[in-house]
Amino acid sequence: MALLDVKGLSKRFGGLVANKDISLAVEPGEILAIIGPNGAGKSTLFNGLVGHHAPTSGSVTFNGQSMLGLAPEQVAAMGLVRTYQIPRSFGQMTVLENTMVGALLRHPKLADAREASERVLELVGLRERTDVRAAELNVAGQKRVELARALATEPKMLLLDEVAGGLNPSEAIALTEILRGIHAAGVTLIIVEHVLEVVMRLAHRVLVLNFGQMIAEGAPQDIVRNPAVIEAYLGR
Ligand code: ADP
Ligand code: MG
Repeated sequence: MALLDVKGLSKRFGGLVANKDISLAVEPGEILAIIGPNGAGKSTLFNGLVGHHAPTSGSVTFNGQSMLGLAPEQVAAMGLVRTYQIPRSFGQMTVLENTMVGALLRHPKLADAREASERVLELVGLRERTDVRAAELNVAGQKRVELARALATEPKMLLLDEVAGGLNPSEAIALTEILRGIHAAGVTLIIVEHVLEVVMRLAHRVLVLNFGQMIAEGAPQDIVRNPAVIEAYLGR
């Protein structure tokens, strides 16, 4: 059984169709990448999956249960969690405190949440920065805090929205290794990513969105040679 099963998902904002009839299934243990030009509807899709908005039509089934009508906290409790393109960490809180915000979902006792957070911070390479205020970190560090907070909720599936955006090439490669570690720890991943290097290194399968619709699906090496995909990127 697929871990995530999306059927005929559409989202309209007034006259704009941001997602049109999207169907996809993700197996446990998979790393799926979703690519597409700006405005293609990638973040809107993530928002629809985790309960940030009510899709106009379609269904979202996660781990055998419908996610439609659930609030983001309820979806997170089911094990489906997203990160944000713009990190949403609390700047005046430390790296550890930010991570604990996620960990408290599973560990109501502070001491337990702290211990779980420290494990997560090890995994994302922030163990040495636990007491630094998030605002003092560079972009790469803040992206890791965002990742740590999401990971601390102990998701079955993580939806990563442009987690490599704004990073330099060596930071992006380091992040790729962190994502490999997260995947190896048993988390299924969907990555929305503009940095093709990250997609090529990590993804088992790639979906391409353009103007809200899925226009191609395949192995990474085939997708980058697909004429419809090249046209979608050059056509804008
Ligand atoms: P992507 O993440 O692929 O760059 P988005 O999903 O953010 O694209 O946006 C898809 C389209 O939906 C864009 O045209 C965007 O302006 C529009 N859109 C996204 N969110 C909203 C919203 N809350 N209200 C109105 N329009 C929106
Ligand atoms: Mg986006």
